[in-house]
Amino acid sequence: MSAKILDGKTLAKKILSELAKEIEQIRLIKGRSPGLAVLMVGDNPASAVYVNNKERSCLGVGMNSYGNHFPGDIDQSIVIEEIEKLNQDPKVDGILLQLPVPAHLNATEILYRIAPNKDVDGLHPVNLGKLVRAEEGLRSCTPLGVMKLLEEYDIELDGKRVVIVGRSILVGKPLSLMLLEKNATVTIAHSRTANLSEVTANADILVAAVGRSGLITPSMVKPGAVVIDVGINRLSDGTLVGDIDFAGVFQVANYITPVPGGVGPLTVAMLLLNTFSSYKILA
Ligand code: NAD
Repeated sequence: MSAKILDGKTLAKKILSELAKEIEQIRLIKGRSPGLAVLMVGDNPASAVYVNNKERSCLGVGMNSYGNHFPGDIDQSIVIEEIEKLNQDPKVDGILLQLPVPAHLNATEILYRIAPNKDVDGLHPVNLGKLVRAEEGLRSCTPLGVMKLLEEYDIELDGKRVVIVGRSILVGKPLSLMLLEKNATVTIAHSRTANLSEVTANADILVAAVGRSGLITPSMVKPGAVVIDVGINRLSDGTLVGDIDFAGVFQVANYITPVPGGVGPLTVAMLLLNTFSSYKILA
């Protein structure tokens, strides 16, 4: 058996090209284009690639980009001041703080200062609270991208056993709630889970969001499962890989996401969709 590829890259392109058309039409009515501000602190090379990618995609669909890149030793109060300015700025519909930030900054405090209706990364407690309550609100981009991919390929969730490996606030926890909303039976595994392979081998749908290459091997996967790889790891030769042993699991699974070209492009597409939803309300 060999798996079918869940092609996030193609889906993201389709979403962005539809979004560009919608923006083209609506901006004449609204009198301005949507605007996204991506804030980055320091010069983490991986973050720089992600931020550059987000800014380029933003311009590609006809959104304005109001990013600000701060030096690594910037004071917390200056970042907060910038956020307060962006909260008030009528041209800005979305604000995103690229994580991680240097250790001297308190990321949580900064994230809490972003106005909930501009919190396009869905990390403000108001938006996380709405997610817990299954109310409408801005949702975290990566889990939202995973949900879009599952929907695009008509993967049934109702009553399915889903195992998510990784319990972060950015991926594992919000994704578990989104899957619960769709009536999946969700288990979250993490670094302290006993007998990880026993847990994962039960999953109809297995999601890995850890950041450790080769963590999920074929014997940990139920034959015929849907396998989603959120992890991004750079090997010493520069190659990007996920958390799943792709070549091996490809032989066991029914569906699998590649890395790169799976969940990553959808994260950016969801960021722009979130910004567009805020714009439709704010503009
Ligand atoms: P994180 O470090 O905050 O969380 C990692 C999680 O993995 C933790 O909950 C931890 O308990 C768990 N874990 C660690 N070692 C484990 C082990 N041996 N067995 C089982 N669980 C273990 O990371 P994060 O921010 O959630 O990101 C996870 C991965 O996803 C990273 O590789 C990151 O680069 C990637 N990521 C990708 C996208 C994307 O757009 N594709 C977006 C966000 C994060």
